Amino acid sequence: MPEESIPFLSLVSQHQPIGREVEEALMRVYTSHWYVLGHEVDAFEKEYAAHNGVNFCVGVGNGLDALTISLLACGVGAGDEVIVPAHTYLATWLAVSKTGATLIPVEPDEFTCNVAPAGIEPRITARTKAILPVHLYGQACDMTAIASLADKYNLAIIEDNAQAHGSMWLKTKTGSWGKANATSFYPTKNLGAMGDGGAITTDNEAVARFAKQYRNYGFEVKNMAIHQGVNSRLDELQAAVLRIKLRQLDLWNDQRRQLAVLYLEQLKDTGDIILPLSDKEAYHVYHLFVIRTQHRDALKAHLAKKGIETMIHYPVPPHLQKCYEHLSFRKGEFPLTEKIAETALSLPLWPGMTPSQVARVCDAVRSFF
Ligand SMILES: *Cc1c(COP(=O)(O)O)cnc(C)c1O
Repeated sequence: MPEESIPFLSLVSQHQPIGREVEEALMRVYTSHWYVLGHEVDAFEKEYAAHNGVNFCVGVGNGLDALTISLLACGVGAGDEVIVPAHTYLATWLAVSKTGATLIPVEPDEFTCNVAPAGIEPRITARTKAILPVHLYGQACDMTAIASLADKYNLAIIEDNAQAHGSMWLKTKTGSWGKANATSFYPTKNLGAMGDGGAITTDNEAVARFAKQYRNYGFEVKNMAIHQGVNSRLDELQAAVLRIKLRQLDLWNDQRRQLAVLYLEQLKDTGDIILPLSDKEAYHVYHLFVIRTQHRDALKAHLAKKGIETMIHYPVPPHLQKCYEHLSFRKGEFPLTEKIAETALSLPLWPGMTPSQVARVCDAVRSFF
């Protein structure tokens, strides 16, 4: 009998136990006849702020908008420079571009793949306004080093926390280190909605106020706009689902961490594989389990043949995207970033994945080498 295939991600075991509760919540919103910016969004914002250890949370339409609004709330605009990771998801860069600011990319640390703090200081100029660390794969950046640079040069930190809900650096949640912090509730994230969603978290009251106005046309009070804002509101149905899923987040992150331990044990000393490295100060929530190998494409094909789905995060780095052609970045300009793009492979990992499924993936990986 052929073995059952293993998807990259399955939501079944997360959604099944809360199905009844979600159904009730969706019906509650349906029969309330109030669908945008109401009780559910208010309640979710309070609950997510508390979970994140901050005073304020503002729900928005998606992660990209959360990033853009965070930057704007910190006064970032044309003429400013923002330090960004060279190795990140495209959305991080797009948000900076949308404000009119200049992207200053910095190479990652070879082992964590997060931005290397040592690379930041040489890129700081009189125009630098902000540092935008991205907690990639679920692991916090070195926030001790980044916070001390921000302090020294009087820069704002704006975190991209889209992959790291519940993650920590030195026991302090990511999404609470910056002046304004952005996250996404895209369905595949550690905390995912049933569609698009995002949020800004902050301890800064002015940032929270700006975000609340900006997401809703820039209205200060009804029909009185003080910014040329956007329409980017978290809706009531998404907020109702997120409230239920938030209560499971710590448990699900714990399950991710246990699966990662199994992967790390079973893939030790396999071929030329570089396993993900966890910083000892970081509480890694393994949004992704990313290995690296020179034989990435062949390994991906080998696993596919065995019914195991894998993904690449990300095959084309932002500086080599056609949309940034006008910035004239060269191939080879960010060699570490390009090397990661050529060698990274994300293995299946989701809360509820079984140890025997992990073992099957590991057996299949070892059989390749
Ligand atoms: C998912 C993601 C985003 C964008 O989120 P959307 O909700 O899809 O706009 C931004 N940054 C990172 C690192 C992400 O993983």
